Amino acid sequence: MPIKNPLTALAGSVLIVTLAACGGSGSATPDVAVAETPEFESGTTMAELSEAGSIRIGTKYDQPGFGLLGLEDEPEGFDVEIGKIIAGAMGIAPDKIEWVETPSDVREQVLEDGDVDMVVATYTINDERKQRVTFAGPYYVVGQSLMVAADNDTIEGPEDLKDNPDAKVCSATGTAPADNIEQYLASKDQLVLFDVYEKCADALRTGQVDVVTTDNAILAGFVANAEDQFKLVGEPFTEEPWGIGVTKGDIEFCEFINDTLADNQDAYSKAWDSTAGQIEGAQDPELPELAPCA
Ligand code: GLU
Repeated sequence: MPIKNPLTALAGSVLIVTLAACGGSGSATPDVAVAETPEFESGTTMAELSEAGSIRIGTKYDQPGFGLLGLEDEPEGFDVEIGKIIAGAMGIAPDKIEWVETPSDVREQVLEDGDVDMVVATYTINDERKQRVTFAGPYYVVGQSLMVAADNDTIEGPEDLKDNPDAKVCSATGTAPADNIEQYLASKDQLVLFDVYEKCADALRTGQVDVVTTDNAILAGFVANAEDQFKLVGEPFTEEPWGIGVTKGDIEFCEFINDTLADNQDAYSKAWDSTAGQIEGAQDPELPELAPCA
């Protein structure tokens, strides 16, 4: 299928080929434009990756709508599609992407260790992380929220957690929501941490925890997959701008990613529509104002 608003690489006009990609669940994901002969200044990450013809991208494997391992052993979701758009602008086709499962707590480490070339993983840009990572984006802005069992009428927002000190609250290790929720708890004993949110959702299902907290968009994906067992409560109470992590100091790569996002808003919208946009109540996002790379 031809693409109306094709990707362009920084080098200027390029030939475009399109590849059809399908989600393992059977839901079609958009065609991804792959630049045929992009040119980059030698020595840049873009030149190296483009020359190699492959890229390693860290993403989540357990988050419906954003990064979820499909039945065909390939991750699916909005983050995955964003990764494909960026790879495509370097001439790298989706089947040349090596996906690396990257739980929240290891995101900085995998970049520092050179295990991945970039991380697209519901990754909040914050000052602490900026010490170790350069962020492109933000490409989406969400807020922290709470998810409880559908029949829970006791917890309606973070203010109710201190009044219910026996209520266990689950989140993922090394995350902004896990840090931020502490101020709302009667004691640290209320907090249960796992490496991935899927384990929190399982613990909520079995009644081992009472609340799961993270970004509302992630929770909405779990609610949608839980057949009326879970619900979101209250309003989002933080702002979480999601960025794309690259090696600290790789400003050229970061700026290339920002330019690629800005140049491909049509592909961005299609990526959304085919993934997280399928979740009930999901709002169509617009690409937020991109921050300068630092
Ligand atoms: N966006 C938050 C963070 O980066 C929570 C989601 C996640 O753990 O990926 O900490």
